[in-house]
Amino acid sequence: MAQLAEALDSKSRGSGFDSQQSHHPRPDGEIGRRSGLKIRRTLSVPVRVRLRAHIMSLSDVLSRTKAFLLDLDGTLYVGDSLLPGAAEFLELLRRRSIPFLFLTNNSSRSTAGYAKKLRSRGIDATMSDVLTSGGATIRYLVNETPYRKIYLVGTPELEEEFTSAGFTLTFDGAEAVVLGYDTTVTYDKMAKAGLLIRAGIPYFATHADRTCIYPEGLHPDTGFLIAGYEHIFGRSPTVLGKPELPMIQAATERLGITDTSRIAMVGDQLDTDQTMALRHGLNGILVMSGETDAQALEAWGHTPASTVDGVWEILDTLRKL
Ligand SMILES: [Mg+2]
Repeated sequence: MAQLAEALDSKSRGSGFDSQQSHHPRPDGEIGRRSGLKIRRTLSVPVRVRLRAHIMSLSDVLSRTKAFLLDLDGTLYVGDSLLPGAAEFLELLRRRSIPFLFLTNNSSRSTAGYAKKLRSRGIDATMSDVLTSGGATIRYLVNETPYRKIYLVGTPELEEEFTSAGFTLTFDGAEAVVLGYDTTVTYDKMAKAGLLIRAGIPYFATHADRTCIYPEGLHPDTGFLIAGYEHIFGRSPTVLGKPELPMIQAATERLGITDTSRIAMVGDQLDTDQTMALRHGLNGILVMSGETDAQALEAWGHTPASTVDGVWEILDTLRKL
């Protein structure tokens, strides 16, 4: 398909917007254990869904889907180009009043920043349509912890999102450290975060992606700092973004649907989108228009509920239902 070829070609020149490269998936049980916190487990993980994944057609998956979680880069667009059918798919969801959320791990942008970026790509989006790992982190800290004085390693956009939510960003008197995808990180920030992490205060990360894709290649993402602190201080953070439980809790709260077997997670990445689907009982629809190729899927060792070439296949099938 010429349009797809063009879009994929643009990927190599892409902006890196919503880039989620790879992760350190952590078992749910590890969340909060290190910090001594407990996470409310309001979601069930229906094992039946995992078994059903082998026999469901895309039509079956879509028939039981009441809401969609939509990854962005590699799913709805690549680089600056919308993928074929993406705009029509979103229009159809809106026309049929099917709830959906854009879901991204990239915390270098705020929720408002993402909504603005999406609109610049021709996607009708407001802040309420977007959930970032930064947003999920704020929700988690507010709901599940007493920490309001934070040492944040993050971009000015993320800092603004935290201060708008009522947090005080400070080194002196910090009650917790939060690592985000900080494209403005300095040695001073890294050193100060390290002092607090070594001192043993509660320690969080918005997500654990090791790299972020840019036109010239892969840049270090939050996982770069996480690995560094693990290496020198032997501490790992509580991670809140995909594929971890707090991200899906934030998403289901927004959607107003707690039965995850009625939600489809459409995404191109195995270690974030599809691992989250597998762990939390969502219907994972893997799109092969992004980071994952057939070899990676085979090596993964699991089967998404459905695998399609791209979002245009979902559009075609949904139109017939
Ligand atoms: Mg993606």
